[in-house]
Amino acid sequence: IRYIVMISVFFAIVFILCMVFILQNDRRHFKKRVRALRHDVEVDELTGASTRKYGARLLEEAFLDYKDGNDSTVLMLLDVDKFKSVNDTYGHEAGDEVLKKVVRTMKKSIRSSDYLIRWGGDEFVGVIPGSMKQVAFKLQKMAERISQMKIDDRFYMTISTGVADIRMARNAGDIDDIVLCADHALYCAKEGGRNRVCQYQE
Ligand code: GH3
Ligand code: MG
Repeated sequence: IRYIVMISVFFAIVFILCMVFILQNDRRHFKKRVRALRHDVEVDELTGASTRKYGARLLEEAFLDYKDGNDSTVLMLLDVDKFKSVNDTYGHEAGDEVLKKVVRTMKKSIRSSDYLIRWGGDEFVGVIPGSMKQVAFKLQKMAERISQMKIDDRFYMTISTGVADIRMARNAGDIDDIVLCADHALYCAKEGGRNRVCQYQE
């Protein structure tokens, strides 16, 4: 009987240890999968900017803080100039390279905590602290840097940007209203000849 009890206890312990090992392994695997899925949902595969779906949610959540906060914050809407002609002339891969380079350069110009969202195609939304004048100046410098970069040793690109102060829209219903203001400013930048930053005026 003593032997039977000892053997039973031994196997019970082995069984429990195996179960603990299997459960821990499953948990690790599950966490890894969740991290990978989150990454797929939140990060744009090509550029590394936030996806629109995730970015729009972040903006929505942060909107009230921005609007009522004391610090001025600016929303920018940036679009690559004549991007379609790059695809048509140099191929889709060269176009992809442009998007990657633009985001890489933008990331160097803003803080890692600032939002940078791929809004769609060649259009990006960013949220940058500072006054319109300060941010527009910073973005102008960035645009100059981008315009001086030779892509694939073959061609140059420019970008146009519209900026709008989030606090300016104290009566705005939601962040979409600010995006619309930045879109108006972007339209002015395009109409004004591209390769420039325009500020939204109420
Ligand atoms: P504009 O100066 O007025 O902005 O002219 P544009 O040619 O840049 O016009 P638009 O912004 O409308 O062009 C966007 C193009 O971006 C059209 C589409 O084929 C291309 N595009 C969208 N997503 C991608 C992508 O992931 N990779 C590449 N290579 N091209 C893309
Ligand atoms: Mg464009």
